[in-house]
Amino acid sequence: MTQYIFVTGGVVSSLGKGLTSAAIGSLLESHGLKIAMQKFDPYINVDPGTMSPFQHGEVYVTPDGAETDLDLGHYERFTSCEISADSNYTTGKIYSTVIQRERRGDYLGKTVQVIPHITDEIKDCIAKVASTDVDIVITEVGGTVGDIESLPFLEALRQFGHEHGRENTLFIHLTLLPYLRASGEIKTKPTQHSVGRLREIGILPDILVCRTEIDVEPEVCEKISLFCNVPTEAVFIEKDVETSIYELPLVLRQQQMDARILEHFGRKPGSGNMDRWIEVVESLRAPQSEVEIAVVGKYIELTDSYKSIYEALTHGGIHHKSRVRFRRVQAEDLAEGDPAAVLGGVDGILVPGGFGERGLEGKVRTVQYARESKIPFLGICYGMHAAVIEYSRNVLGMKSASSTEIDKDTVDPVITLLEEQQDVSDKGGTMRLGEWPCRFSKDSTCSVEYGIAEAGERHRHRYEFNNIYRDRLSEAGLRIAGSSPDGNLVEVVEVVDHPWFVACQYHPEFQSKPFAAHPLFRGLIGAALERKSSRD
Ligand code: GLN
Repeated sequence: MTQYIFVTGGVVSSLGKGLTSAAIGSLLESHGLKIAMQKFDPYINVDPGTMSPFQHGEVYVTPDGAETDLDLGHYERFTSCEISADSNYTTGKIYSTVIQRERRGDYLGKTVQVIPHITDEIKDCIAKVASTDVDIVITEVGGTVGDIESLPFLEALRQFGHEHGRENTLFIHLTLLPYLRASGEIKTKPTQHSVGRLREIGILPDILVCRTEIDVEPEVCEKISLFCNVPTEAVFIEKDVETSIYELPLVLRQQQMDARILEHFGRKPGSGNMDRWIEVVESLRAPQSEVEIAVVGKYIELTDSYKSIYEALTHGGIHHKSRVRFRRVQAEDLAEGDPAAVLGGVDGILVPGGFGERGLEGKVRTVQYARESKIPFLGICYGMHAAVIEYSRNVLGMKSASSTEIDKDTVDPVITLLEEQQDVSDKGGTMRLGEWPCRFSKDSTCSVEYGIAEAGERHRHRYEFNNIYRDRLSEAGLRIAGSSPDGNLVEVVEVVDHPWFVACQYHPEFQSKPFAAHPLFRGLIGAALERKSSRD
């Protein structure tokens, strides 16, 4: 029978609920349990696909083509749960389903209300991820307890708990213990208030996870236990990790959170083997070498905008027992002047995905610098477009080559709108999305790195390589290294005369794990290490 964990947050946002939920998932998997993970986001947008990266950070794409919250990336990196469109629901998505039903007349003349219609829909969404082979579903509620917009979600969780019984549901509440430097004290009052808010709604947390900056004395946990009505052994301390987020499963294991959860659910422990996490953390703590990778993008000041990219680069480093340092470069800064002044000394360069005109010229110049200086290069999505534009301009001499995304009337549209996109006017959920197979050409870098002939990779784009230029570009040394199985869509290009230059239409960063780096990130870091040692 499936059992359910609900993770809520209090005091402030950005406490790392997603990471904590994911880490709990990894602990449960170590006992041989099959888990499913899900996130509720209380905002009104149907999904984050239409939001600016400044507002929301990275948009994470599921294999079935949903544009979702970046916490799903943590779920996939920490666990082997399968994610889909059912793994992320927003208020907007819930309401649109209910309103569509109302328009169809499904409610047979009834008044449609938050309770029971919206709450029923929320409960149905939880049930959707609980297939017969799932032991435990972990559902995280975004936002902070006390927010007006999260109320329907919390009410639905309360009802769900009531209907399934305490033995089959477990509420985990994440809070902050602020440290007051002036008085040298840890404060528990915000946690007490936040648990009080939850109790008003009718939810009694079974476990509290308290985020802190400093170590906490046992008396603090006893005080929290007394005032918040949870046993002391159910108060867990999550101090800021020192080296990496991948320490988190081990931090929770050390306090035996898994034992507590298994006991609550009446489940027997499995092996509880966490060796692979120990290995990951050890290789991050004591790396044997170091490389510096420049990430040249448009939203560079926000690490959340390229979350999966930084994680995947780190995974590449873990594979080679090396630390990866990031040089975060604003693409616009490269539009003019000497690129070497900004990029000089790096061991590898990555140009991530993006949209719109700002920064494209800087990305094109970055590609030129990487190509001519033979620096290992990985271009992703818009980064692949920049690579094709650069090669067309600087090798084939088509000076005005561009993408129709930014110049509709260019004489050389080497990147154009996908045919299926011609009549699309709605912005939300209408790109080419989700996992599609890519077949690699035999002599390519990709076929070496992947070691297989075909792989499924996730996409999120409207524009693509223009086949009219295919022959000219490949004759000039830009290899078509991967394409859709029917050969129609170019998915990867590589520069032949270069030690390691791969640019792909898809997003490999979504399929990388700390203990199994994605082949292209593993390859990029490997090539960067080689370049560094040959320079040394
Ligand atoms: N803007 C480009 C397109 O829509 C690339 C998208 C991306 O990088 N994700 O095709």
